[in-house]
Amino acid sequence: MSLLFTDFASWQAHCATTGEPLFRPVLAYEIEQKGASEADIWPGLQRAYDVMRDAVHTGLTGDMTSRSGMINNGAKKIAASPVTVLSPEFKNLVVSALGAKEVNSCMGRVVAAPTAGASGILPGVLTTIQNIHHLPDQKILEGLLVAAGIALIIEQNASLAGAVGGCQAETGSAAAMGAGAIVYCLGGTVEQVFAAVAITIQCMLGLVCDPVAGLVEVPCVVRNASAAAIAFSSAQIAIAGVDPVIPVDQCVAALGEVGQSMETRYKETALGGLANTRRGREIEKMVLVQDVNILPDE
Ligand code: SF4
Repeated sequence: MSLLFTDFASWQAHCATTGEPLFRPVLAYEIEQKGASEADIWPGLQRAYDVMRDAVHTGLTGDMTSRSGMINNGAKKIAASPVTVLSPEFKNLVVSALGAKEVNSCMGRVVAAPTAGASGILPGVLTTIQNIHHLPDQKILEGLLVAAGIALIIEQNASLAGAVGGCQAETGSAAAMGAGAIVYCLGGTVEQVFAAVAITIQCMLGLVCDPVAGLVEVPCVVRNASAAAIAFSSAQIAIAGVDPVIPVDQCVAALGEVGQSMETRYKETALGGLANTRRGREIEKMVLVQDVNILPDE
């Protein structure tokens, strides 16, 4: 039987005992769960990555205006801005993650990795790391498997859903997946990969889910960009060998504890936080009226 992915400690122990790279036991898990062969899994991963790359491209080229109007071609505006606040690479990361998420908010095709609400983070992170470091697709696909293993463990011990654990569970998990994938792709040790996950969770802990008008647009789109940036800062810290102090499995437990104790209004109900601001409520009314006006003609 393949590794169960119940915690990071057993994943690490498995790799230490077998000498396998981190992605291998995830691949074995996929083969067992899907009843597929290795020859089937790689093309599936490639298709997923192609969809991610397409989403980044579409975010920059298509009309990204959502029906509510809250999303209005943000990625294109950032790309065209004459001001670069940090570096062209950082600007590109923000454009890519935000743009891919805009595709989701505009009902386009994305990979829900781990969820549709967080679907811009891995595309932004993986395409950026590939472009900067000239990595082959195969390395990125291995990074995707590592990211999937990270998600499996978080799902079992905390949650991946905003409705269960707040936005920390959704964009936080995606950022942790991205950070681990970055460190893996750049040749970091197993300890450094898991440290990147731990540091990311430490940075994202407590983030509530408060989508305005219940639409996965505001603040979801900008949070995809910030989560991608946190994935990079965490990876940078971890790959230098900085100790996260709190072990990764305990960080995941904290994520679960915080998610459980979070009030319901902060769990995708659109009852609290930004959704409950005066402007948020105005937009909610406007969207409801828009729907009432549109529905009879459809
Ligand atoms: S605010 Fe809620 S709906 Fe939006 S990305 Fe975060 S978890 Fe998902």
